[in-house]
Amino acid sequence: MSRAEGREALIRRLVRPEVQGMQAYHVPPATGMVKLDAMENPYPWPGDLRDAWLRRLGDVHANRYPDPTAGALKERLRREADIPESAELLLGNGSDELIQLLGLALGGADRTVLAPGPGFVMYRLIAGFTGMAFREVPLLEGDFALDQGAMLAAITQHQPALIYLAYPNNPTGNAFDDTAMRAVIEAAPGLVVVDEAYEPFCGRSWMGALADYDHLLVMRTVSKMGLAGLRLGYLAGHQEWCEQFEKCRLPYNINVLTQASAAFALDHADVLRRQTEALKAERGRLADALGDRPGLTVWPSDANFITFRTPPGRAGAVHASLREQGVLIKCLDGSHPMLGDCLRVTVGTPDENTRFLGALATALAHV
Ligand SMILES: *Cc1c(COP(=O)(O)O)cnc(C)c1O
Repeated sequence: MSRAEGREALIRRLVRPEVQGMQAYHVPPATGMVKLDAMENPYPWPGDLRDAWLRRLGDVHANRYPDPTAGALKERLRREADIPESAELLLGNGSDELIQLLGLALGGADRTVLAPGPGFVMYRLIAGFTGMAFREVPLLEGDFALDQGAMLAAITQHQPALIYLAYPNNPTGNAFDDTAMRAVIEAAPGLVVVDEAYEPFCGRSWMGALADYDHLLVMRTVSKMGLAGLRLGYLAGHQEWCEQFEKCRLPYNINVLTQASAAFALDHADVLRRQTEALKAERGRLADALGDRPGLTVWPSDANFITFRTPPGRAGAVHASLREQGVLIKCLDGSHPMLGDCLRVTVGTPDENTRFLGALATALAHV
């Protein structure tokens, strides 16, 4: 047996079959591109704010472990996010890590995660490697609304330990109907996580509903509001739940730079809020411009991205043409049966959006 064959054999014997069957999360290269594929806020901080931030980081001690509870940052988040007094907070290295934490705490062979789809890919991926079954309930064709009847039937059938409801949903951009959301929450035999990654662009929230439901958790992230590089997510819910999840959290998961930087950024949240308002205005302009193009179907968005459908069979070529022209967006075609010919563009600066629209016009004329 060659050494390569030996490694292969050992991998097949040792690595868990569900992991062997998975695909790693792929991030395409983007150097030098107009990057409109990952729902990042395109705006850097103004120079004086950046200088003040760097001075603040001068007080950070990289030789010491971080505050394991991130107490100061939690306090700051509580004020910013209107966390109810009765709720506890759990912090993650991005909300992705919180999804993983929930999987570690609840996972097991007879445990099911349920979510509407098309939805956020990490729910399925993380269910896979934390040993949970994943069940997807299709959204309604046409407007991607929550299919209340199908959700309730799936809940009865699969008795999920965990239900994820992204509000607004990624990659469809819509916030589900409140009555259908409540029906799902009230029918759930396990936990329900409302994932509010796009809350700054939506304005509606389930944070206030924490008082109504003991099995509800509300998850947010600072990523989409402009701090994706810091990796910070937070989960709000009853203290008894957080106490259990804390046991699966690695003690220093929020590093010193993130703790200091996020607290600093929240002290200057007005800057981020102005950026959010500018992006919401651009979202409107982008949606109108896309809607005016014959042949495209554009879905309304409560988030900082817009999903649209090209004429049949052309999404792949349009995506490739945009990339050749230096504009990177996300190709959803092939990722889900309901997303055939679909593309997703993140709202960028006015300049970036104009470049995207120009490149799109070229692409549609030539492919
Ligand atoms: C982007 C996104 C997240 C992940 O956020 P991070 O905090 O950057 O890990 C979670 N949920 C949804 C629906 C998202 O689109």
